[in-house]
Amino acid sequence: MSDVSKMYINGEWVTSESGETKQIMNPATGELVGTASFGGGQEAKKAIDAAHDAFGKWSRAAARERSKYLYKLYELVRDHRDELAGIISAEMGKPLREAKGEVLGAADNFLWYAEEVKRVYGETIPSSIPNKRIMVLRQAIGVVAAITPWNFPVNMVARKIAPALAAGCTVVLKPAESTPLSAIRLFELIEQAGFPKGVVNLVVGDPVSIGKEFMENEKVQKIGFTGSTRVGKLLMEGAAKQVKRVSMELGGHAPFIVFEDADLDAAADGLFESKFRNTGQMCISTNRLYVHENVASSFTEKLAERLKKAKVGDGRNKDTEIGPLVNEQALNKVLDHIEDAKNKGAKVAHGGNRLTDGDYAKGFYCEPTVLVDVTTEMKIYQEETFGPVVPMITFTDEAAVVEHANNTRFGLAAYVYTRDNARCFRMAELLEYGIVGINDGSPTQTQAPFGGFKESGIGREGGKYGLEEYLETKFVSFGV
Ligand code: ADP
Repeated sequence: MSDVSKMYINGEWVTSESGETKQIMNPATGELVGTASFGGGQEAKKAIDAAHDAFGKWSRAAARERSKYLYKLYELVRDHRDELAGIISAEMGKPLREAKGEVLGAADNFLWYAEEVKRVYGETIPSSIPNKRIMVLRQAIGVVAAITPWNFPVNMVARKIAPALAAGCTVVLKPAESTPLSAIRLFELIEQAGFPKGVVNLVVGDPVSIGKEFMENEKVQKIGFTGSTRVGKLLMEGAAKQVKRVSMELGGHAPFIVFEDADLDAAADGLFESKFRNTGQMCISTNRLYVHENVASSFTEKLAERLKKAKVGDGRNKDTEIGPLVNEQALNKVLDHIEDAKNKGAKVAHGGNRLTDGDYAKGFYCEPTVLVDVTTEMKIYQEETFGPVVPMITFTDEAAVVEHANNTRFGLAAYVYTRDNARCFRMAELLEYGIVGINDGSPTQTQAPFGGFKESGIGREGGKYGLEEYLETKFVSFGV
């Protein structure tokens, strides 16, 4: 069993009690990347027990002590950037350049929280009663169960465990079952950083039974999740039974609005970033492109020019800009959205097909695609596509386009390109989204709050906001 990648529970590398394993395939080639031990609720329970036992000491350690481990982990992740990026590319197809950026983003989270941990301040408040004093303490919530998706298999883990550990929480992490290998490598670095046993645990396996244990085990105080709105709602329902705290980063349906006065070259570059990075598989990916009627044809041309140059291929090739979709089901959904739009009258301005020539035949590739004449009844307008397809709609009126952009149950990210300053402010205020990129197609940064309005989630990750999510507020009243 030496070639089976293991789970990390209470400072030990273990395989599942059932002996079950899962093979991880490269979506670019269909090749076997590795095999992971595949556990379930039993392993989750052991990991929760370990995290619970470790909580007292870890949460009471001096902030500078916790900072030391996080800083060491930052250095290790930074120094293993290329290796981790290679695993990410192999297990989910991400272009190497982007995967390296993702790993640096993860390292930056460990660095940020190694510093921020020193600034968890409490407060004193003037009392209305002369012989009483009011003190406010900020304390770690307790054991955190975290569930992460496959599209950023290292950074999503970092964005949860870094603030949780900084706050003094202990953690059980379940990565996506299709991308456990990069998380396992990250946990080897966690072990190397010397975190005390039980402080950070990794379980890989069946999402339903692990999720059930996370929801039902009274030792878990908080569930942190990034993934689909469907699963997020299930977890919130389960968590509600014990009033567990939750942080949810869920689906998006991002509008990208190009006004008549926009710098069209900058807008085309911004759209390329926001739509084609990670092959369109991001919750902040553009899902609806609104372009002012007067610039629609020149913008479409610029976009098509850019896409003609984009190199599609195996993420491990260094010049690849757009990789494969993560699996066959994801590819079929994208192709179905294109087909449905064409049947309902959309025209293909660029791309539109699965790529099957030569090496492409082995992977789940779709051409980068631009659809024009898109209307509101098409699936591509209504659902999150999670792929390299731009559906374009033209508009003339500012108020109407804002109304369209806001007319959704989602509210994660929105993008606007315009050179009118007053309009920049109007858009920033009127768009009902947690993240608004004004003349910026790639707004995420470690220190900024990341999260959604409406059904896109609850809570924020990043910077001081991310740390808040793992702290309770305690009021202490002193009689003097
Ligand atoms: P996606 O469609 O992007 O894969 P999911 O919400 O299905 O999004 O997956 C995100 C994460 O949620 C993954 O780690 C997955 O294993 C986990 N997950 C899926 N179903 C459940 C569930 N019923 N309970 C707990 N976790 C789940």
